[in-house]
Amino acid sequence: MKNLREPLIFGAVIVVLAIVAAISLWKRPDASFQVLEHRPQAVMGTATRLLVVPPPGDVPRGEATLSSAERELRRVEALMSVRLDISEISRLNQAAAGDFVPLSTDSVAVLMAARQAHDATHGAFDVTLGPLIKLWREGAVNGVEPAAERLQAARDSSKWSLLQIRDDGAVKAGDGLQVDLGGIAKGYAIDRGIAAMRNLGMRGGVVDVGGDVRAFGTFDGERGWPVDILDPFSPDGRLGRFSLRDKAVCTSGDYARTIKIRGAKFSHIIDPRSLRPAAFVPSVSVIADTAMEADAWATAMSVLGPEEGFALLPPELDALMVVGTEGDYRVLATEGFARYLTERPAHLEVIERAP
Ligand code: AMP
Ligand code: MG
Repeated sequence: MKNLREPLIFGAVIVVLAIVAAISLWKRPDASFQVLEHRPQAVMGTATRLLVVPPPGDVPRGEATLSSAERELRRVEALMSVRLDISEISRLNQAAAGDFVPLSTDSVAVLMAARQAHDATHGAFDVTLGPLIKLWREGAVNGVEPAAERLQAARDSSKWSLLQIRDDGAVKAGDGLQVDLGGIAKGYAIDRGIAAMRNLGMRGGVVDVGGDVRAFGTFDGERGWPVDILDPFSPDGRLGRFSLRDKAVCTSGDYARTIKIRGAKFSHIIDPRSLRPAAFVPSVSVIADTAMEADAWATAMSVLGPEEGFALLPPELDALMVVGTEGDYRVLATEGFARYLTERPAHLEVIERAP
């Protein structure tokens, strides 16, 4: 944990959004605003950055808050990661049909939000794709695309109609049902981290997990937190910048997480309609009140593409989508997203939304 002194450079971390690294060097009208930073290691498999603005002069409380926010991230990861065999969600995946699996209020809340997102996105966001996600990951390791029959069998054995969620747990109606919360749990964890910062009396704060960011308050008493939109085609460049205050922004489709089979690149996001990796949307960022909602919608919009994605996006959410290829791309944004921009990307087109 340290007080920010020097500008920090983003290394090889390829994220599509990044909270501006040198925030502490920005001129502040009120010197009592002090930004403390902590970069916990090995959380959620990506680069994590926590920032807080403690009450004037109260650095110890700021540091205690950073630790507390880190604990929240680790707690959510331990509950929901499918990479940990002993997580609650892994236990649900291993359970036999008909057995009641007790779950924390956190896991129940995320599963319920995931089901709502499934309905709101007309099925594009689907955490019950667990077995399909596994098949495509194996395919990447073996260099062979999974056979169509295996994909269909995986779909038939794992779908929302086979999962019943209760207040304190869940029951599967088929042994093969497996959920993967990779498209939403990170957002939930970020929300818990922010809740910890608010509860401990911070004047402002940021939780940034691999470029998925939620911020509250300000860093200088006036301005929102500056966030860079990184160029999906060149991780060192940025397309633009916007200001985030009391909102979350999550991004999907980053190049870092594509899977490769015999040299061909695929998205790590599965399209539930084709049972294949989603057609490549280079990046989509969604702004919402909570990171959980932004996270789910960013994943869903990668599946839906620009036309359906913007049409289904609820009016209170905003999005910016990069479509096309390196030499020939367009940046589509809702009017609301364009209003947050302090530095507009070239090729920006504002989307008309139905009233
Ligand atoms: P994100 O980076 O938030 O877009 O999440 C991507 C992750 O979500 C993948 O690595 C999978 O674990 C999971 N996932 C893949 N496809 C879907 C989908 N259609 N709906 C929900 N989660 C998905
Ligand atoms: Mg997501």
